[in-house]
Amino acid sequence: MTETSWDVVIIGAGASGLMCAATAGYQGKKVLLLDHAPKAAAKIRISGGGKCNFTNLEVRPANFICSNPHFVKSALSRYPSSAFIELVERHGLEYEQRELGKLFCKARASDLIQILRTECDWAGVTVQVNTGIQGVTFNESAGFTVLTDSGMVSSAKLVVATGALSFPKLKATGFGYDLAKQFGLKVIKQSPGLVPLVFSGKWHERFAELSGLAMDVCVTAGEKSFKEAVLFTHTSLSGPGILQASNYWQIGEKIEVNLLPDVDVYQSLLDLKQSGGGLTKFLNQYWPKRFTQMWLEVHPLEDIANASNEALKMHAEQITHWALYPEKTAGYDKAEVTLGGIDTDEVSSKTFEAKKQAGLYFIGEVLDVTGQLGGYNFQWAWASGVACGLAL
Ligand SMILES: Cc1cc2nc3c(=O)[nH]c(=O)nc-3n(C[C@H](O)[C@H](O)[C@H](O)COP(=O)(O)OP(=O)(O)OC[C@H]3O[C@@H](n4cnc5c(N)ncnc54)[C@H](O)[C@@H]3O)c2cc1C
Repeated sequence: MTETSWDVVIIGAGASGLMCAATAGYQGKKVLLLDHAPKAAAKIRISGGGKCNFTNLEVRPANFICSNPHFVKSALSRYPSSAFIELVERHGLEYEQRELGKLFCKARASDLIQILRTECDWAGVTVQVNTGIQGVTFNESAGFTVLTDSGMVSSAKLVVATGALSFPKLKATGFGYDLAKQFGLKVIKQSPGLVPLVFSGKWHERFAELSGLAMDVCVTAGEKSFKEAVLFTHTSLSGPGILQASNYWQIGEKIEVNLLPDVDVYQSLLDLKQSGGGLTKFLNQYWPKRFTQMWLEVHPLEDIANASNEALKMHAEQITHWALYPEKTAGYDKAEVTLGGIDTDEVSSKTFEAKKQAGLYFIGEVLDVTGQLGGYNFQWAWASGVACGLAL
C-alpha cells in the first residue's frame, strides 16, 4: 500500500463492502477496500451450503427485522433483486431457483465472489486483505485516518462494512459497533439470529435420538409462523423452520410447532375412530417412524376406538400446537446473522451516512437490519452497498 490518501476507505471486504467499493469506483472515486481476513467475502464462500442463496425473487420490507421497519424501503426499492440478477447474468453466472423464490449459484458460491472482484477491478478499486485495523481518528482538516498493520491511510470518507458477530471463525468482529460508539452513535443490543435452538433435559435427549430426521411442519415464534422444515440434530433443533423462528424467539418463551399443518387433525382422528384404523399407521403416513414412536411415548393415546371425542380433540391440539421451550440458541458460532446493531435512526436511509458524523457511513449487517432466511441478508448487503456507493 504505497498510496496513503484516498477519496474513500472502506473497512470490510464482505458482501456490502465489495458492492459499495465497485459502485463508488465507477463514480470515479479512488477507493481502498481493506479487510483483516486472508480472503475477501468468506461468508459468501460458505453460504447456502457453498452455493450462496444470493437473493430472492420477492423482497419486501416485511422480510426484514429492524427497529424502524421503514428504514429498509429506500435502498431496497432503488436496488431491487432484479438489479442484482441483471448484474450476475451480465457476468454469465449460472444460477437456479429453489423453493420460495430463493436464487442460488448453480456451481459454487466462489463464482459470485469472482464477479464482485471483477467489478471492483473494472472500477479501479484497490483491495487489500490481511490488513488489521488498529484504530480510526477524525479531524476536520485531514478527514479520517485509519491506522492499519501496514501503515496509515487517510480519506475524506470512511465506510464501515465490517458485518456482525456471527461466525467468529470467519473473522467476524464487533469492530463496527465499537467504531459507531466512538463517534457517539447508539447501538442496539445484539443476539444470534437464524440460529438452531438448544434444549435441555429430556427434550435434549429425545431430539438427539431423532438426530438426522427432517419434517415439514409450521413453526411459530411470537407473531410469526414459518411453514418450513425442521431438522433434528445431536445438539439442537435446526432446519429452515427453526432458523426462521429463532429471529422472533426470546429466551423464556415457547415456540409452537404444528406437526401436521396440511391436515385437519381432529377430523382425521374422528374418522380413524369410526373406521377402526390405527393411530401409529395414520401418523406414519406423514412422519418418520422414529418420530411417531417418540410422539406416542410422550403423548400416549391407548385405544382410539374407545377414546372420547374430547380426548381426540386434545390430541389433535397437541399435534397442531406442540409447545416447546428452548433453553437457548446455539450462539454466534452457528448463527447465520446477528440481530440488533447500529441504530438505524443514527444513519440516513438514503446515503447511509451517520447523522452525527459527516463522511462516516455504515452499511450491511452492522446496522440493526436482519433479513429472514431466503437470500434477504445478501440482498440487503447489495442494496445498502449500492445506495451508499452512489452517495460517496
Ligand atoms: C454460514 C452462513 C451462511 C449464510 N448464508 C446466507 C445465504 O445463503 N443468503 C443470505 O442472504 N445470507 C446468508 N448469510 C448472511 C450473510 O452472509 C450476511 O448477512 C452478509 O454477508 C453481510 O454482509 P456484510 O457485508 O454486512 O458483512 P460480511 O459479509 O460479514 O463482511 C464483513 C467483512 O468485514 C471484515 N471485518 C470484520 N471485522 C473487521 C475488522 N476489525 N477489521 C477489518 N475487517 C473486518 C470481515 O473479515 C468480512 O470480510 C449467511 C451467513 C453465514 C454466517
